[in-house]
Amino acid sequence: MDQVDAVVVGAGVVGLAVGRALARRGFETVVLESETAIGTVTSARNSEVIHAGLYYPSGSLKARLCVAGKAALYAYCAERGIAHRRCGKLIVATGPTQHAALHALSRRAADNGVDDLQLLTPDAARALEPALACSEALLSPSTGIVDSHGLMLALQGDLESAGGAVALASRVERIEVGRPHRVQAAGMTLGARIVVNAAGLWAPALARRTEGLAPAFQPPGRFAKGSYFALPGRAPFSHLIYPMPEVAGLGVHLTLDLGGQARFGPDVEWVEPGPAAAGGDGTLDYRVDVRRADGFYAEIRRYWPALPDGALQPAYSGVRPKLSGPGEPAADFRIDGPAEHGIEGLVNLLGIESPGLTASLALADETLRRLAA
Ligand SMILES: Cc1cc2nc3c(=O)[nH]c(=O)nc-3n(C[C@H](O)[C@H](O)[C@H](O)COP(=O)(O)OP(=O)(O)OC[C@H]3O[C@@H](n4cnc5c(N)ncnc54)[C@H](O)[C@@H]3O)c2cc1C
Repeated sequence: MDQVDAVVVGAGVVGLAVGRALARRGFETVVLESETAIGTVTSARNSEVIHAGLYYPSGSLKARLCVAGKAALYAYCAERGIAHRRCGKLIVATGPTQHAALHALSRRAADNGVDDLQLLTPDAARALEPALACSEALLSPSTGIVDSHGLMLALQGDLESAGGAVALASRVERIEVGRPHRVQAAGMTLGARIVVNAAGLWAPALARRTEGLAPAFQPPGRFAKGSYFALPGRAPFSHLIYPMPEVAGLGVHLTLDLGGQARFGPDVEWVEPGPAAAGGDGTLDYRVDVRRADGFYAEIRRYWPALPDGALQPAYSGVRPKLSGPGEPAADFRIDGPAEHGIEGLVNLLGIESPGLTASLALADETLRRLAA
């Protein structure tokens, strides 16, 4: 059996950030990835927004790691020349019945340490965005967008410069807890004192295939698909535009990519994975159903009445790795480390949905803290 100091499962943005942090701390680190390239799953299928940290309950991991991760991410992007833009975002109320919730959001943001929000009158909001319809808005100047693939390439580069490696086409089938832990992947077994499960959508499934881990730490994973529709031509807004948030998502919002292209989404559709392919986990259907556009038009016209009929083009979709199901309150990130399950050197990162991209560097720091590494 080959032996390394640390194995990280999953080369999405979180696994790469954790692998980089471990390697830079001096641990011989291998990141095992089932696909043939890094970052092809949820880290490639999101809004690429650097979130400010407004929405999450105060004291939650999402709130704390989003705010810390945002600062770390802006600094890292500047240091490594990763494309990003601090474009700002407007959260809009489209009628007086939403004002109390908008003001509550502003108070929650302040509790989370986001103290730069500005409440705007409709005239002030329209001075920034003439095409916008709203009855009040909150401006979040610290929200931005980032090239997620550029970020992952930089993380991989740092990991490798520190002596770590990414092994592609190396699906982890099973983990056996011990001293060292034994990680079985694609025809090999690796011994490691530290194992971090950052398998994204399939992290709960891998926790269930971890022998020696108590059932309380093997929660079921749930899946909420979000589809996007693109708006061809010139974007009507220069800020990101968000309606008031929903329970399972942030509402059908407008985001911009670094090329200035506008897209709307993601909506929320609870899905069940199809049967597993040989040697894999369940399959997910990422095709965008054009009929879902019908629901988008009404939602978008609440804040952009000028949206022309037939303008939306199906773009892409992503699937949120959820720990709570339909109708249940949103769950926090779940970081199960030695203090939780009692197993030295093992961390399971579960339910790392939004704002996981923003929080990736802070999630890595938190993982090392839990490992006392
Ligand atoms: C629709 C949508 C929009 C979002 N928008 C934003 C946003 O704007 N801003 C933001 O901050 N966050 C956003 N997020 C959240 C963000 O995308 C995720 O939190 C983040 O990408 C999670 O990264 P990850 O590395 O945990 O998971 P992933 O990117 O899914 O990586 C996990 C990796 O593990 C691999 N893997 C799985 N099982 C195994 C195995 N057994 N063995 C080896 N490898 C395995 C997978 O192939 C994959 O590459 C959004 C998410 C969705 C779905």
